[in-house]
Amino acid sequence: MTRFDTPIAQLHAEIAAAKARFHAAQPVTLCAVSKTQPAAVLREAYAAGQRDFGENYLQEALQKQAELQDCAIAWHFIGPIQSNKTQPIAQHFDWVHSVDRLKIAQRLSDARPDSLPALNICLQVNISHEQSKSGASEAELLTLALQISQLPRLHLRGLMAIPAPCSEFAAQRDQFRQVRALFDQLNGQGLALDTLSMGMSGDFAAAIAEGATLIRVGTALFGARPAKSPAPTSL
Ligand SMILES: *Cc1c(COP(=O)(O)O)cnc(C)c1O
Repeated sequence: MTRFDTPIAQLHAEIAAAKARFHAAQPVTLCAVSKTQPAAVLREAYAAGQRDFGENYLQEALQKQAELQDCAIAWHFIGPIQSNKTQPIAQHFDWVHSVDRLKIAQRLSDARPDSLPALNICLQVNISHEQSKSGASEAELLTLALQISQLPRLHLRGLMAIPAPCSEFAAQRDQFRQVRALFDQLNGQGLALDTLSMGMSGDFAAAIAEGATLIRVGTALFGARPAKSPAPTSL
């Protein structure tokens, strides 16, 4: 037993309940978002059966990967991507969910080692038109998806979205429904996407209702993350 057996079982029960309630037949992968958690914590979750882990910060992730080489983990990069970080990301991850421009995709494809399978990609779409700026706009999505689908060392799998946080279930569903509609449109244009990466601790049931196939859960599994350390003050 680890301290994660119960929370992981609980999450799988909630996923199953959401699927049953909303007649959602798709498979749903639980991706454990482990940013700020030390490698020892990931190892415990792994011992409890967790296999997919999502990380936001490259240096932090590389360190944990080095400590967890003996574990058969599928690593998902879910944070903003700077173009000078594409090489290590292409070398050390199985999935990248946060691609939102062609230049980044090209660099990932160029840097993906031939010894590894094509890198799985989700295109991040900015559905809430938030100031957060991350994510492709709906207007540019089709062109971008078609271009990325042609890159030799990438496998375009689907869409990722982080809608504006909201506590009302119906409003959450409305946002995820928009992502699902874009996903369906792209598949209608000849793409063969199978992954909808949407839903976090506070809204994954709504995401599953709208077809999420991968949910990214941090807090509901690991507990609250430590607050960011305050900026150093001068002495
Ligand atoms: C931190 C993070 C999550 C997990 O958020 P929780 O609310 O802790 O579940 C999911 N997706 C992305 C992109 C994140 O940065």
